[in-house]
Amino acid sequence: MSVVVVGLGPAGTIATWALARAGHAVTAIDAGTSGSESRAPLAAATPTVRSTVYEEAVRAPGPQAGRDGIGGSKLLAAPQSYRLDPWTLRMRTRVEVRHGAGVLPPGTDVRDWPLDPADLHEWYERVEHLLRVGPRPPTEWTRRMAAAARTLGLQPFAAPAAASRDTGVLLGQAVATGRVTTMPGTTVLEVLTDRSGVAGVRVHHEGRIRTVTARAVVLAGSVLANVRLLLLSGLGGPAVGRYFMSHNFLRVRGHFPGVNLDRGSAGPATATAVAEYDADGIDCTREGFVGGSILQAAMTGPAPSPDPEWGAVWAQPEQLPHRDNAIDLDPVAVDVLGRPVARLTFALHDDDHRRARRLQGVMRDWLVAAGAAITAAEEFAAHPLGTHLYGGARMGTDPQTSVVDGYGRVHGVPGLVVTGTATFPTCGGRGPVQTVEALAWRSATALAAGLR
Ligand SMILES: Cc1cc2nc3c(=O)[nH]c(=O)nc-3n(C[C@H](O)[C@H](O)[C@H](O)COP(=O)(O)OP(=O)(O)OC[C@H]3O[C@@H](n4cnc5c(N)ncnc54)[C@H](O)[C@@H]3O)c2cc1C
Repeated sequence: MSVVVVGLGPAGTIATWALARAGHAVTAIDAGTSGSESRAPLAAATPTVRSTVYEEAVRAPGPQAGRDGIGGSKLLAAPQSYRLDPWTLRMRTRVEVRHGAGVLPPGTDVRDWPLDPADLHEWYERVEHLLRVGPRPPTEWTRRMAAAARTLGLQPFAAPAAASRDTGVLLGQAVATGRVTTMPGTTVLEVLTDRSGVAGVRVHHEGRIRTVTARAVVLAGSVLANVRLLLLSGLGGPAVGRYFMSHNFLRVRGHFPGVNLDRGSAGPATATAVAEYDADGIDCTREGFVGGSILQAAMTGPAPSPDPEWGAVWAQPEQLPHRDNAIDLDPVAVDVLGRPVARLTFALHDDDHRRARRLQGVMRDWLVAAGAAITAAEEFAAHPLGTHLYGGARMGTDPQTSVVDGYGRVHGVPGLVVTGTATFPTCGGRGPVQTVEALAWRSATALAAGLR
């Protein structure tokens, strides 16, 4: 019997590769196909959304931003490749030690990650080596913004990016071991268990439903897919779906009259960044929020402007795990097979708005220091279906408040592993993909060792 990996985005690809290299047979399943550019209707059925539990949820205009298919959403990504600041993993302890208990906003339930930041650091190094992560050459725009950052006493650096968006080469290497069977265009509908733990998955392929037996299952379908699968399978305990987070991007634009910023001359991974306002860079006790963001002057970034005289700085601010932001199954709305879709309950809170205002101020100062004559901050609005979602199957030690342990193993279900941002207890102020890859590799390695 093989190990089933559900989803072949960066998390599932690395898990498949690591398991196959460790000598295990893998059935690697993805709802989409390698050429797909959109969402698969069964795996990513459009969810419903509401801002509080007192409202009736309505269908979102479309599914979450991203794509389904071999390569996952990373094929659309910049692909900037950041490590999280170790503070993010120890946020609760670090805030309490520095500022005392009671500083974390009411309504949040912040927990430390149940893993050693130094251990994760080693896996980051492996990923950076494997995927050739490094800076891109500077451009007119990034040089200008780096110089301006220095005048403000900041230490700008070139954003790290993977050499390629495509992790398909790893899947190719895994298949070449002869131990991997791929099943594209196949949607996993349910995880099956028996008394001893995982037994397999029920899948849908070209109108037919069948069972694939497995000795272990790795869920690598990203947040909404993983959480929905756990809920539809009745697995994971009371914390499934809870502590949902979404990076709500911030953008401030600046007009540089008469200057051609030449922002079209490089891809979106090229950026100069500053980290002084991320993690515990801002004194949160005065400001009424915790955490910040990397700030980036990128070549494109969200919603690029075609006007060469306009530049922009953007942020992906921390968001805390609020108790009332959650994912569950909609009691009414269903997909084409009649299965409930995911229902998101999501709102921004006071601390989000305070953090956003503070960061927007810094972003404005940076643009002005670079010579912007006018700046314009875009509205900060709730986006529950953005490109970076987190939580819903967070890691921890207590099965009442977490779903998986530090290796992604679901509490109380031997053989079931979850990878991806669903397991993050906190999100941090930078992109997630390198952490996703590091954790997937680490989890698959632990699983492989345990299956011997
Ligand atoms: C436009 C865009 C830009 C981004 N830029 C960056 C960036 O620069 N830096 C960064 O850090 N992050 C970035 N991200 C986020 C990054 O792409 C994701 O964090 C990453 O792709 C998550 O990897 P994953 O493998 O967990 O999930 P995904 O990439 O979402 O892959 C999941 C796969 O699982 C499959 N699947 C889901 N459910 C099922 C099922 N039931 N049965 C079978 N298969 C299933 C899907 O078909 C999909 O192929 C960006 C995202 C987008 C959309």
